[in-house]
Amino acid sequence: MIERILLTIAIALGLYGFFAPILTRLRIIQKTSKGFVIDQIPRRIGRFIWEVLLQGKVIAQRPFAGIMHALVFWGFLAFVPVTLDHFARGYGLSVLGHGAFRSVVTTVVAVFAVAVLIGIIALLVRRFAVRPPALGPVKFESGIVGLLIVILMVTYLWDLSQREHLRELANAWQSSAGTDQSEHAAFVMSVWAILYRINWWIHSLSILTFLWLIPRSKHLHLVLSPVTTFLKDFELARIRPLDFEKEEFGAAKLADFSAHTALGAFSCVECGRCYDHCPARNTGKLLDPKKLMLDLRDGFLKDPQQAIVGATIDEEILWQCTTCGACTFQCPVGIDQVVPILETRRGQVAEGNVPHTFNTFFGNLERLQNPWAYPTPQAHEFIRDNGYPEYNGQEWLYWMGCLARFDLTYRKVSLAFKKILDSAGVSYGVLKDEQCTGDAARRAGNEFLFQQLATANIEMLKAAGAKKIVATCPHCIRTISEYKDLGLDSGIEIIHHTQLISELVGVGKVKLNQETEAATVYHDPCYLSRYGKPEDISNPRALLGGPLEPERTREKSFCCGAGGAMIFAEETKGKRVNRERTEELLGTGAARIAVGCPFCQVMIRDATNDLGKGDEAPVLDVAQIVLGMIE
Ligand code: SF4
Ligand code: SF4
Repeated sequence: MIERILLTIAIALGLYGFFAPILTRLRIIQKTSKGFVIDQIPRRIGRFIWEVLLQGKVIAQRPFAGIMHALVFWGFLAFVPVTLDHFARGYGLSVLGHGAFRSVVTTVVAVFAVAVLIGIIALLVRRFAVRPPALGPVKFESGIVGLLIVILMVTYLWDLSQREHLRELANAWQSSAGTDQSEHAAFVMSVWAILYRINWWIHSLSILTFLWLIPRSKHLHLVLSPVTTFLKDFELARIRPLDFEKEEFGAAKLADFSAHTALGAFSCVECGRCYDHCPARNTGKLLDPKKLMLDLRDGFLKDPQQAIVGATIDEEILWQCTTCGACTFQCPVGIDQVVPILETRRGQVAEGNVPHTFNTFFGNLERLQNPWAYPTPQAHEFIRDNGYPEYNGQEWLYWMGCLARFDLTYRKVSLAFKKILDSAGVSYGVLKDEQCTGDAARRAGNEFLFQQLATANIEMLKAAGAKKIVATCPHCIRTISEYKDLGLDSGIEIIHHTQLISELVGVGKVKLNQETEAATVYHDPCYLSRYGKPEDISNPRALLGGPLEPERTREKSFCCGAGGAMIFAEETKGKRVNRERTEELLGTGAARIAVGCPFCQVMIRDATNDLGKGDEAPVLDVAQIVLGMIE
């Protein structure tokens, strides 16, 4: 009886220790300004099965640690029925019964227990002996949790192995009744019974201590990350339009963040995948997306009304993010680190607090609707002189983008693409009065300016009635897609020029000679490889006939440094991102660098020139290379 009372008190304390901090965090999440978006339920369930239940993403990003983590995770799931049964046994009850079903379940779970032991020991060795920098300083609680998991598995296996042994001892004692061995058999049995009970209690208290530790450590991800993953937006770094009539101006205090950001801050498992892949962190900037999320978490726990900039995070990190999305793409628990950065930038812009170089391009956009202050007639002249057809209901609307309209070098890309379209007899036209999509304005936090440009462009697109848009700029593609949140017809198709060219090759309208003249390395633009579709990774490669691959490639591509309006920022801290990337590209021994984005072309070309390799390794768009391959 006393044992049951003690067990009840221990369970009550364990459950209180588990639920009280979780409720505190849920109340904090509830206080944030915007709730969750729950749409596309079947798709969300599919992602949940792949990323959470099958641990697909965790394994894909870091295969060894991922498999070890998956063993522990699957083992935990398998332990649910035997753990309920374990506590039921404390009250003389049984969840699994006493027959064959119990034997099957407990034996299967024993296999999982061995798998968990292998997984947790490997993870402990990694964390405490190998110690990759991304994991950060060693934490006492991680060691305790690891030890508890080892104890849980060992005590479970011992319990299982001794149950039969105890029965044998009891039989031996009964059959020895009345003989000289009876007393000894009774003694042996009672000692084993006590040891068995002690083992049962060690297992019980380990579970309850573990339960108490979960919400007080990074292990809270066990509870929250399935929810964070389920609720994550399908679009990377998606920010909702601000409603100025409702006096929405961006995030100034923590409670202004969206609910998913707060949930994410509490879900971080501190794995450091974002730390490993962030171009800012990799080039010596202050920004570290892992630290950002942990700082937000600590801030939320301290006071959700606390100011973000200054009190919670350093202002400097805000203007070092290229919005490349590497952090979000890598994160195994569904956190989107770019969203709080962009929401805070909006708050800073509302307070007039932006890097001075941003004010210049904001002014240019306001006056001349392009960030470089080119006069619009220059674009009209270029379009007219080169015979671009004006859009008039043709099949494709070719969205040129500012650099194609104005920049002397990038115009060559546009002309190459035009020649390919003309040679294939594609029906297309351009809008001579298109304005900047507002990509950089939006990423810089100037939502008001973005919406001004977006409204003008949406009107133009609606009036044109285009249903299919093609663009050479992945930033334009992303931003025009965002117009759908502002009233653009959601049925409009917007694709990258490498997709259209690939389709033309596929139907034989463009015939390519695959004998390329020079070894080419392909640089995946972030806004194509991570923000885009899987074909946006395969199409350029197919067109280039299998280019050289740098170490960081495809979805793991390393940013050129331009996105998130950083092309307009002064990069004074650490190594320049474009230089880091260009050195990697040149390190493949390629004689030319292929790109699929105007920003990438500018940044990588600048870096090749800085490195004195401008003539040796030209930077060309895929369209320019394809034009040279047309038979
Ligand atoms: S979006 Fe890119 S630059 Fe920004 S924090 Fe994430 S990884 Fe770093
Ligand atoms: S934010 Fe995501 S990727 Fe970064 S440390 Fe936390 S869990 Fe890992």
